This record gives sequence, structure tokens and C-alpha cells, in this order.
Amino acid sequence: MCFSSIRTAGGRIVCLRCTALSSRTGLQCGRPALKSSRTQKCQFHGGRGSGPKTVEGRAKIAQAHLIHGNDTKVARAERSAASARLAQLEDAMHILQMAQGPRTRGRKAAGYVSVRSVEDVKRMMVEDVLSSGSGSVTADSNHSA
Ligand SMILES: [Zn+2]
Repeated sequence: MCFSSIRTAGGRIVCLRCTALSSRTGLQCGRPALKSSRTQKCQFHGGRGSGPKTVEGRAKIAQAHLIHGNDTKVARAERSAASARLAQLEDAMHILQMAQGPRTRGRKAAGYVSVRSVEDVKRMMVEDVLSSGSGSVTADSNHSA
């Protein structure tokens, strides 16, 4: 048994009733359904919908939420990696006693691995040379020039 309409505001407004059924009692929800709901549900039972599902609809929403496009995920990842690298270099400078004073506070960027000993500094430098093969070549050419 499913009542499709209810009266609210002291009987002055007739509106559609939410058709959701309680999983505990089996009774029908007593709230008015949202006018925008395709399935005649209140906002607590999914009447607001859950967003676009088709590829075109999702692309339309993504285009609407695009603010300027100056920043990309790749650019943000590069900046984050550079911040982590900078924090590691700061660690290395303090370990090698090239710098004194207070350290940079706060959360470190993603990908940061703490550098705590001279061995860590050596390992970091070896990884740096191995990861950027062309960079070491230019550094050698700068030394010879
Ligand atoms: Zn409901």
C-alpha cells in the first residue's frame, strides 16, 4: 500500500509523498517528495539525484567547474615533487652544517623522505645522479668549460 500524496501546512498544500519504505519497519516515508525528484523521493531518500552518469553529462559538469585552466594535475605534481626535494635539500644542508637556525615548519610535500644522516645525503645524491642522466652530463660540461 503506497500513498502517493499528502497534505502539509495544515491541509492547505497537497503534495507528492516520498515513496521510500523503511527497511526497519516497512512503513512508507512521511515526508513530501521533492518536485525535482524523478523517482518521487524526499532529500533524505535520494530525491536530489547523484549527479550526471553519461560521458557527455560528466564532461559538461567538468567544463562548468573549470575555473581558468592555468593549473594542471601534471603541473601540481611537479610542484609537489619540487617542494619535497627542497625539504630534503634543507635536511641535507643542516646535516652537512651548511645552514643553521630554525627549520621550515609544517607539513612536508607528498613524496618527502626524511634525510637524517650523512649516509642518507650520499644516497640522495647518488639517486639524483642516476635519475637525471642528462643532467650530470651538462654538469660535467660546465666543470670542463
Ligand atoms: Zn523519504
